[in-house]
Amino acid sequence: MRKLHFLLDGDGILWRGSKTLPGAPEFLRFLRERGHGYSLVSNNSSRRRESVAAHLTERGLKLSAADVFNSNYLAGRYMSDHHAGDDILVLGQDELMQELQSWSLRVHRAEDLMPPDVLADPGLGIAPFAADKLAVNPTVVLVGIDTSVNWAKIVLACRLIEDGARLIATNRDYSFPAEGKYLLPGNGAVVAVLEGVTGADVTTLGKPETHLVELVEREKGVPRDLMVVVGDRLETDIELAHRAGIPSVLVLTGITPEPLARWPENQKPTFIARDLLELMSRFDEFFANATR
Ligand SMILES: [Mg+2]
Repeated sequence: MRKLHFLLDGDGILWRGSKTLPGAPEFLRFLRERGHGYSLVSNNSSRRRESVAAHLTERGLKLSAADVFNSNYLAGRYMSDHHAGDDILVLGQDELMQELQSWSLRVHRAEDLMPPDVLADPGLGIAPFAADKLAVNPTVVLVGIDTSVNWAKIVLACRLIEDGARLIATNRDYSFPAEGKYLLPGNGAVVAVLEGVTGADVTTLGKPETHLVELVEREKGVPRDLMVVVGDRLETDIELAHRAGIPSVLVLTGITPEPLARWPENQKPTFIARDLLELMSRFDEFFANATR
């Protein structure tokens, strides 16, 4: 049997909210015992790979920092490959800033560029945000999930983009599931505001773009023809698989609770499993499908 490498999505596959999903620790053990590899491939930018791994280990999910390929780590790599030496405005959580700083990038928070009174109450005047009024003029705006995003930060980001700064998004997920039936606004919702105001082209780092697949290829040395995507979201996970030319498993424990009657183009999974326990029990059937 060929040894495959599973690119596992996190939320909706290994866990949901604060709960580890049934079968997740067993599935990882099952893969290890059979010699298959795996990585977590996630659009989340809020935590560094080390803290994701520590958190998952506490939940009984055996993953090391080197197994975590999220848009936080990808942002560090990508910005260091393409924007070393450039001034970068970052909208994002503390651990995104920390990751970027660990790559010695020239990163700035809106809070560092704007006077506190303007940040607190910018009103509708735009003069304080004019590029010639700022001590530093970032030429790149990187947007990750930022739970303290506000009007002033959005105005500043738009201002820089209108002056020619490049707009980069860690991911474009419009929403993510909260506890219960509600959705929280995702990073894509803020990116859509910036895009709508400025008309700028957006460079997206996370899924369904293939940068994370390339990173696993490069860092783990896994050839693409041994990879399988396991995910719950059609427009990120399953579309990534199509773009990268690799098979996919849709698991129905997340955002897609049942198979569709008609699949959107480029979002049809290779295999569908109710949960990871079913994927294990039907593994031979899946394997025949995935390696055809
Ligand atoms: Mg998911």
